[in-house]
Amino acid sequence: MSSSGAGRMSASFLVAETIWKEIESTHKVNDDQLWTLHFLFGKNFEGATRIVDQRGVSKISAHPSGRFIFQVAGESRRKEQYLCFAENFCACYSFFYDVVNRGEQLCCKHQLAARLAASLGSYAEVKVSDEELALLLSRI
Ligand SMILES: [Zn+2]
Repeated sequence: MSSSGAGRMSASFLVAETIWKEIESTHKVNDDQLWTLHFLFGKNFEGATRIVDQRGVSKISAHPSGRFIFQVAGESRRKEQYLCFAENFCACYSFFYDVVNRGEQLCCKHQLAARLAASLGSYAEVKVSDEELALLLSRI
């Protein structure tokens, strides 16, 4: 990754962070916010909004630690579910290929879907024990 690329990415992250916080505070997304997120994330954001519209995001919360991870439905016909941390990890192929290896994307659409759903409060809630969460994470 070149240093100018990294600079552009961190600036985009700051803009995106501001928008996520605005959405979190109102649990609503307006046209300006949608436009900016689309500008920053392009096709990935379109995919993310489809996933959230179809209620494809679950938040798996562990008891008693309160740790959590998102499970996000894929858009392929196989209907895969990806375990995903909105900030820094997704178990999908695109995350490793486009985000980590090539540095071409800021994040994958599942991470965006998790972030959008979290900001809107628009996700299913699944409660598990800490042991169950550890087991899920060990399979990634
Ligand atoms: Zn992903």
